[in-house]
This record gives sequence, C-alpha cells and structure tokens, in this order.
Amino acid sequence: MTPPSWLSPAISSLREAYAAGRMPHALLIHDSPGAGGEWLADWAARLALCLTPAEAPCGHCAGCKRVASGQHPDLLHVGLIEESKQIRIDQVRGLAEELGLTSHQGGYKVGILSPADALNPFAANALLKTLEEPTPRTLLILVATQPSRLPPTIISRCQRLRVRAPTRAVALEWLQQTKGAGDWNAVLDLLGDAPFIAAEADPKAIPALGHETRRTLDEIASGAADPVATAERWSRSEPGLRLRCFENWLTDRIRRHIAPAGNSVEKQSAVHLPPAVSILNIRGLFELVDGVRDLRSVLDVPINRSLALETLLRRLAAR
Ligand SMILES: [Zn+2]
Repeated sequence: MTPPSWLSPAISSLREAYAAGRMPHALLIHDSPGAGGEWLADWAARLALCLTPAEAPCGHCAGCKRVASGQHPDLLHVGLIEESKQIRIDQVRGLAEELGLTSHQGGYKVGILSPADALNPFAANALLKTLEEPTPRTLLILVATQPSRLPPTIISRCQRLRVRAPTRAVALEWLQQTKGAGDWNAVLDLLGDAPFIAAEADPKAIPALGHETRRTLDEIASGAADPVATAERWSRSEPGLRLRCFENWLTDRIRRHIAPAGNSVEKQSAVHLPPAVSILNIRGLFELVDGVRDLRSVLDVPINRSLALETLLRRLAAR
C-alpha cells in the first residue's frame, strides 16, 4: 500500500532517525481514531526488520516479506484478547521475555502494543521495567489514542509521535485510491473522519444504513413512525452507528435553523425538510444532541439500550 500522505512527516522523521542510527528504544504513537497509528507502527517494524538497510523498508527482502505475511519471528504484537477490554500483565511479561531473547534474524526485535491505553495498571508496571532496562536493538512501539491514560513514567520513556486524522478531502482521495469508488463521504459522515476505520467498512452498506436511519428520524419527527418499535429495532442493529447518524441528523437541522436566510444552498436543502421538523426549536435540538452524545458515550457499558433510545426518540416525536 502507498503510504497515506498525511503520515509522510512521521515516516520521514522515523527514516531519518533510522539512517542516523538514532532509533529510539520505545516509540509512543499518539493517533487520532482511525488515523493510521497501527499502520505506522507496522511500517516502523518493517523499517527495523528490513534486510536491505539502505532501502528500508524495501518490501522485497525476506524480512519485509515475513512482516507482510504476519510471520516474522522477531515481530511481536500485543493487543486485546477476545472480549477483554484490558491488556493484562501476563501478556506484557510474555512480550518482555521474548524481547529479551536473541533475535532470530540477527537484527532488531520489535514489539507492538496496541491499544497501549488499554494496559491495566499491573501490565503498565511490568512494561515500565522493560522500558527502564531496554535490551540493545529492541524497538517497542506503543499505539494509543488516549495516551493520558498511561502512567507518566511510561510516557516519559518513549519518544512521542503524533498522528492526526487528515482533512476530509485527503481522506476521500486516499479511500478512493486504495479501496476504489464508493460513497466514502457518507461512510466518513457516519464513522467519523477516521479513514482507516472507513477502509474496513462496506461503502454500500454504511451509506444505506445512514439513509434508512435518517428517513426513519424524519418519519418519527412527523409522527409517521413509532419511536418504541424503532428503539427496539435499533438497539439490536448497529446502535452506535444509528446514534452517530441521529447526532448528524440533529446537527444538520440546527445548522439549517441558524443559517442566514439569504444562503441559497441552505434554502435548497430546507425544501426537503418535512414540515414537522421545521417547528422543532433550536434549544430542544441542542438538548437532544446532548442526550444522543451521552448515550453514545455509555454504549459500551451494560445499559438498557432499547429503553434509553426510546426515551430520546419519544422526545423527538413529542416535539
Ligand atoms: Zn526489506
């Protein structure tokens, strides 16, 4: 895959450090969700494990090929296992043990920890020991979207690299190049400006789900659909995406309410608004946005999703 353009500055700085023999022992990639932090970690691993240093990562040598096929004996991944939300101490101990052994290829040994912000306190403590006494020619790469969750003692021992999500236009260009044509704009609307998450999504199914959700919201707002049945259905089918869509739908409407009357584009889109929606007041819309955001933030904890969704949709229907 061609390196995503927004990762070029990070790639250049790693390349320079490698060429100058200044590769850090530990790297903390602080990425925005779906911005490509893991991709960059993998790239750094290929850089260190390539057998043609002058062209690293060359992509053709045995080292590069092994990394690409996920079978390099000197590259170790530590992540979340199955349903677990934490990286545990035994995983970190296993990694430390492996990194302490001589490399199979006679060069670097690389460990990638992602998401590093999921290290539990015991695991973080075990990792600290490895960071304090690094074995020569080891590279530990931590990838985290919320590094503030890591102990400062870990952060201070890593070289930090910030990876931000690209602009919408850059993300669209990259998605079209790597994944082909599709309604990527609609995908990014629903999944957020997170190109690497969008790249895993179905560019037909996601926009269709968004379209269907928005239509149902229009119907609920005009009294043509039942909030109770809808809440029940959505709680079992992509509740996270539905809520994201709900939030976008609400912010669209707020924007249209406060747009200047002379704006022809806004006038055009306002034509499509069902009459019932136009009487929603802005304050009520803002309150609903807050409610939707609150529910999105607790979607991972065991709550009665159907009931929580029903409360929000009833508020929309009652307006
Ligand atoms: Zn190579």
